Amino acid sequence: MAKYIFVTGGVTSSLGKGIISASLGKLLQARGFTVTIQKFDPYINIDPGTLNPYEHGECYVTDDGAETDLDLGHYERFLNITTSQANNITTGRIYHNVITKERRGDYLGKTVQVIPHITDEIKRNYLLLGQNGKYDIVITEIGGCVGDIESLPFIEALRQLKWQMGAHELVTIHLTLIPYLKSAGELKTKPTQHSVKQLLEAGVQPDILVCRSEKILSQDIRKKLALFCNVNLNSVIEALDAETIYDVPMLMKKEKLDERVLAKLKLSHKNEPDVTQWKKFLGKIKTPTDEVKIGLVGKYVELPDAYKSIVESFIHAGAENDCRVIVQYISSEDITRDNASEILSGLSGLLVAPGFGERGIKGKIEAIKYVRENKIPFLGICLGMQCAVIEFSRNVLGIKNASSTEINSNSKDPIIDLMEDQKNITMKGGTMRLGAYNCQIKKGTKAAAAYGKTRIKERHRHRYEFNNRYLKKLEKGGMIASGINPETDLVEIIELKNHPWFLGCQYHPELRSTVSNPHPLFIKFVKAALDHSKISL
Ligand code: GLN
Repeated sequence: MAKYIFVTGGVTSSLGKGIISASLGKLLQARGFTVTIQKFDPYINIDPGTLNPYEHGECYVTDDGAETDLDLGHYERFLNITTSQANNITTGRIYHNVITKERRGDYLGKTVQVIPHITDEIKRNYLLLGQNGKYDIVITEIGGCVGDIESLPFIEALRQLKWQMGAHELVTIHLTLIPYLKSAGELKTKPTQHSVKQLLEAGVQPDILVCRSEKILSQDIRKKLALFCNVNLNSVIEALDAETIYDVPMLMKKEKLDERVLAKLKLSHKNEPDVTQWKKFLGKIKTPTDEVKIGLVGKYVELPDAYKSIVESFIHAGAENDCRVIVQYISSEDITRDNASEILSGLSGLLVAPGFGERGIKGKIEAIKYVRENKIPFLGICLGMQCAVIEFSRNVLGIKNASSTEINSNSKDPIIDLMEDQKNITMKGGTMRLGAYNCQIKKGTKAAAAYGKTRIKERHRHRYEFNNRYLKKLEKGGMIASGINPETDLVEIIELKNHPWFLGCQYHPELRSTVSNPHPLFIKFVKAALDHSKISL
């Protein structure tokens, strides 16, 4: 059976539990342990699929089609692992499972209560991934902040588990904030003392404190924290603000977080973590030779978390091309035919983002028209690809009414239409075309050049699709359907013949880019943008 590490958060949210968990996971993996990370979210939605990106940032989709929290993206990108539905559990899912069991009669005769029924279901899920023999260590991130009413059952379940398992089977890490008071010129430990007290009230003594801070923690501060929070001095770990999230594993290595954890879990560890590749990557992102500016057109640009995986994919692909990608966020609603040139002419590449609904579509189509005509490299993802097909149909083939039935349900020319098996679906949660599907790539295309193979698998999240009734017409006009699903004939990738690099994909390549495996489409897109920037000099 695996050993377990739990990460809770205190003082404020947004301290980066996901990044700390992923960084610790990376270090343990770099020592040769097999590791997975799971996230427990205290909200009542069954999954974040029904949440607006403004509420919760990007929805990350796994191979098995789960709609999950964006922290799973960090886990996959740092550890180069794949996660699944089991890696992201919400309060909603826990209650759903318990209520389903109650209706089935599993608790017949009993009053179903938070303790023990809800906490038992939480514990069952805490332990699940560690029981399949695949992992030495399972890290569990508990979302939200200690003291929140909604996360209480998760903390209570952790308390029970900590008692039931041996002291060396489970370790708890509390991520907290040590604020710097400018007026006093001091770092303050009181909020952390209080947050640990709150954990203690719930019966959980943290083993290790990870302290976010903008200033170095002096020995005195560390001693004070150790004394008031009942942790060993060497278990007070400093987590300074970092230049990039990819610095955090190195910062945690310096503070020996992994060593502390392994000592507490009594896991023998001969090797130092091998971080050679990671350091190489860090070097590349910090001192690149080139720089390239790429526009990201979307409707949630005020909140960069909405496009997290895309932005990270650019960092990975930039490192591969020895260049820094400067992402310029452009609100799709700001673009019109008249100002497109003014807004877009300085860019070396344009990415049109995924999205839902009608808002911002016009601007996306105008932006695509501009980069198609001006031969600026283009990558359209999901809705971005659908808009590229609409733009081409309208402006090149003259199909004036070309549209998507998502925008106009009565369209005379539904170039993008609801998939057949979506037509009778009324429930919104978890009913899109989700997860990994096969795609056959045509030889001699840009997609084939990027992937270097003709059979791929990529992750999807959409209801609408290229309408094959129009395929012949579009191909005649110069659009290539370069990727097709071999089982269903759905068009998954489109390209343009007379353009240096113009590609749209119905799937989400950004969900499979990792530090050690940057995504081939992003690599080639950044390369094309780099080439374009050199031509236009
Ligand atoms: N709204 C489009 C669809 O459902 C595209 C979805 C997306 O961009 N992820 O097909």
